[in-house]
Amino acid sequence: MRIVRHSLQHTSARDDNWRLLLWSVAMKLSISVVGTGRMGSALARALLRSGYRTTVWNRTKQKAEPLAALGATVAGSVLEAVNAAEIIIVNVSDYQASAILRDDAVASAIRGKLIVELTSGTPHGAREAAEWFAAQGATYLDGAIMATPDFIGTDAGTILISGPRQAFNANEEMFRALGGNVQHVGGEPGRANALDSALLALMWGALFGTLHAIAVCQAEEIDLGELGRQWTALAPVIDGLVADLIKRTNAGRFASDDETLSSISPHYGAFQHLLELMEARKIDRSVVDSYDAIFQRAIAAGHLHDDFAALSQFLGSPDKRSLRSGPREGSLLAG
Ligand code: NAP
Repeated sequence: MRIVRHSLQHTSARDDNWRLLLWSVAMKLSISVVGTGRMGSALARALLRSGYRTTVWNRTKQKAEPLAALGATVAGSVLEAVNAAEIIIVNVSDYQASAILRDDAVASAIRGKLIVELTSGTPHGAREAAEWFAAQGATYLDGAIMATPDFIGTDAGTILISGPRQAFNANEEMFRALGGNVQHVGGEPGRANALDSALLALMWGALFGTLHAIAVCQAEEIDLGELGRQWTALAPVIDGLVADLIKRTNAGRFASDDETLSSISPHYGAFQHLLELMEARKIDRSVVDSYDAIFQRAIAAGHLHDDFAALSQFLGSPDKRSLRSGPREGSLLAG
């Protein structure tokens, strides 16, 4: 800070842009990034590009060193990184690795600081961490990064953040540096991780579905380029079905009506063709057999002619109200 102030006094009056940049660096908070793997490095680079004074720490120091060339200070220990900044962003492989912050010496240094945990984890892990950091007198935000490292620092970079809204609002400028679509999704600390798992379930549904489509095409000697072309045409139809399924389930509209796009019956009929083909071609059926079990539970309960959304009642939760509404905003943490 002293160096920056000194520079401010000695820059040429004509060089207004340079003075402005130095001033903005001087005014910005210091941030430490703990964990500089692929994602942590991208986060640190985005902060450095936006002029934040950034300290980095990584268990394997060599992985943090390239960031020094971009202006980061490489800390020799987690404690040093914590002491160097007001905000500590954590991005390691999992919450077990994040326990490096729960060391006794570190614990006493984090009082009054803001911890932003961007490591992927479970809602339960986030709630537990929020409690622990609150007990140390630190503020805790938990985030889920919905992007690959190349999206970090771009307008399309999406990160979901949960925890006290005040702490998010007060640091919105820093979050904007990490991505143009960083959103506060609720005061309850587990919410970002819960949404992360929900959205990844959707993604894996599509990816595993693609694996099945590839296996069917290969067995039937259909060029995968053809599959790619047909997928492009089908994608908007599937997007519409997904949006409709979410909307109808949210409204509890399970009986078929004038707006039903497709009831369970034609889905189940077409699904039998897929099962038969996979059986004949000896394609692994373990995933689709699970789909079949859900179809069968719903049909046995009399829902064959209901909207496809009726299947959402057959995924195993005995308490549909808790499944549909989940913990209310702010119910577990004062946001
Ligand atoms: P990565 O490149 O494998 O980096 C993992 C980081 O965790 C490294 O810095 C590693 O340190 C550190 N680490 C692992 N165990 C540790 C321990 N016991 N103590 C201290 N540090 C430890 O993984 P990544 O892609 O950056 O992912 C990091 C997090 O971001 C994960 O939670 C991941 O799910 C999440 N994320 C990643 C992406 C993505 O596209 N990459 C997207 C969304 C979310 P060393 O270098 O010493 O091994």
